[in-house]
Amino acid sequence: MSNTVLLFFSPDTKIELEPSLPVPSIRVSGTINENSDLTIMTWVVNKLRNKVERLNFELSHLTHITTFGIENWVKSAKQLSLIAPSSYHQVRENFLDHWNAKMDFFSFGALSKGIRLESVEAPYFCSSCQKERMSLIRTDDLKQNGDHTIAPTVSCEQCKVPMRFSWIESEYFRFLRKHPSC
Ligand SMILES: [Zn+2]
Repeated sequence: MSNTVLLFFSPDTKIELEPSLPVPSIRVSGTINENSDLTIMTWVVNKLRNKVERLNFELSHLTHITTFGIENWVKSAKQLSLIAPSSYHQVRENFLDHWNAKMDFFSFGALSKGIRLESVEAPYFCSSCQKERMSLIRTDDLKQNGDHTIAPTVSCEQCKVPMRFSWIESEYFRFLRKHPSC
């Protein structure tokens, strides 16, 4: 990606923009904490606002987000959702934990329309290897049975044996719920 623009850089955090219109991508790497300036994302996207149909967030390299970091992220996400809808890709477990916990505090209407988590990292257990493995799954592959979410079957990358989801699905995939308090 030769035309990638560096939006923010610190010892902990790197935020890059690939300005491919009408769907630019923002890639976040490292940690989001109290030193990560996220307002630059809103500033840049606002400059492009008439040309942006959707925003892609590539989050596979976002390894950690702090409590302070998620507060700031939610603020930026709300502002960005007023400009264009966002798709989050390869959301990791730590981010998802904070995101799920924050859901109860969102003004949910504004965000539920504007943000879609496309793919998330999820914990599985391989009974053959006796190991927990994180797998990337598409949220389209999650099935809803009443209030229950059913994670797709994933094969172990090592031994190819089908693995079972190793956490409580309704908790882990809480972000899917339209009404998070129920
Ligand atoms: Zn295995």
